[in-house]
Amino acid sequence: METATQSFIREQEIQDILEKHTHPDNQQVQDVLSKAAEMKGLNLQEVAVLTGINDHAQLEQLFQTANQIKDTIYGKRLVLFAPLYISNLCANECTYCAFRAKNKAIVRRSLTQDEIIHETEALIKQGHKRVLLVAGESYPRQGFQYVLDSIQSVYAAKLNDAEIRRVNVNVAPLTTEEFKLLKAEKIGTYQIFQETYHRETYKKVHIGGKKMNYDWRLSSIHRAMEAGIDDVGIGVLFGLNDYRFELLALMQHSAELERVFGVGPHTISVPRMEPATGSDMASHPPFPVSDLEFRKIVAILRLAVPYTGIIMSTRETAKMRRETFALGVSQISAGSRTNPGGYEEEVEDEVSGQFSLGDHRPLDEVIRDVAEMGYIPSFCTGCYRLGRTGQDFMDLAKPGAIKAHCGPNALSSFMEYLNNYATPKTFEIGKQLVEQTIAGMQGVPADRARKLVDRVNNGQSDVFC
Ligand code: SAM
Ligand code: SF4
Repeated sequence: METATQSFIREQEIQDILEKHTHPDNQQVQDVLSKAAEMKGLNLQEVAVLTGINDHAQLEQLFQTANQIKDTIYGKRLVLFAPLYISNLCANECTYCAFRAKNKAIVRRSLTQDEIIHETEALIKQGHKRVLLVAGESYPRQGFQYVLDSIQSVYAAKLNDAEIRRVNVNVAPLTTEEFKLLKAEKIGTYQIFQETYHRETYKKVHIGGKKMNYDWRLSSIHRAMEAGIDDVGIGVLFGLNDYRFELLALMQHSAELERVFGVGPHTISVPRMEPATGSDMASHPPFPVSDLEFRKIVAILRLAVPYTGIIMSTRETAKMRRETFALGVSQISAGSRTNPGGYEEEVEDEVSGQFSLGDHRPLDEVIRDVAEMGYIPSFCTGCYRLGRTGQDFMDLAKPGAIKAHCGPNALSSFMEYLNNYATPKTFEIGKQLVEQTIAGMQGVPADRARKLVDRVNNGQSDVFC
């Protein structure tokens, strides 16, 4: 497996393509934008042309095309989740991260299973249904079993009959056997970020522990898929290296998964480096990405892989998050804490968290804001629970058929939130949005949405199609 994957990031090819397209002419840009509007994705050369755009008018066109694609494929839905940090123990030395082994400035903690249950209850109490379980790369005594136990604890937690319905996982690379165990715990997506696909840079910033092995990390998604995990997420830590290189490398990774497994990644995450306790680099990234470049990255991804979800975390400010919804972001975290125990104890420990957050607002405030912008916050877990994952999901998504499920499910899960967890102000705004949205729908989706929302308003929960 290692030899097979070592070659699919072809650095020289990326460099050559980028060099050739540093200053694309207007015709080239127009051609790529027209092709992108067909929503069939882009090749490396085309992505490189878009990275070369600097002209204000062309950038606006790029953003508009991204907005059109986002609207056509995803409508106004925005999926919400919360990260759940179970442990900040780590044996690696990633120079940008507060959890790195030698950093003495943070308090180390791995939650017990009881604490994980309490932490999950605190998330359920806020109204969350989807959790991203996160840990550093060193587990307590039980080893990897700790992660498996923790997933069970999250699914087992209950509060007033409510529960977390989907656990996604972001932990260090596993063996195929371990991935099989992870799948058996019924996880949603397994995600892992290569951080940088550029070997030299990777070597410079990962200076201790197992994470030093670039190929073991790069091949982890292959092992996950071989183990039967259908939905996988990839990503890059923007700020470590030239973002243009990383975008093309993400395309190569995605194309390779499609070639080998018939389906690309379910999501791409776009973490941008934030200050972190005990890391000079995190405050001074070697390749800082400006706000404009960051928007450009999201828009290019939306054009390049239209059916792959884009995840934006609370690393970014509320303003940046708002701006990127229109450009293609389809999932956001909200009300996040990156210090283990941060939800139950209601502390946002800026020192012991993994990095500084840009958006500190509680879930209800984020939801209200999102709804005021006309987006439907969705807690839907329908596809995953009906087995519409991997290729099955893409087969529905590409001809547009998935919308007849996603739209109604987003509305019913949002209504469930509004009835059970929202503040009165958010309830009013949300309820009006739900009704307006149904009124604007037609045919089968409209009927389904009406029926599902009525069932929720009659006291049922967890209804989806
Ligand atoms: N420890 C595992 C690993 O490294 O793969 C799993 C989770 S790690 C806690 C999650 C992600 O946080 C990393 O993959 C990295 O991209 C991101 N991260 C680390 N330091 C960061 C920083 N200073 N700013 C923003 N994101 C950061
Ligand atoms: Fe550990 Fe992950 Fe942080 Fe690296 S990024 S130090 S592996 S927690």
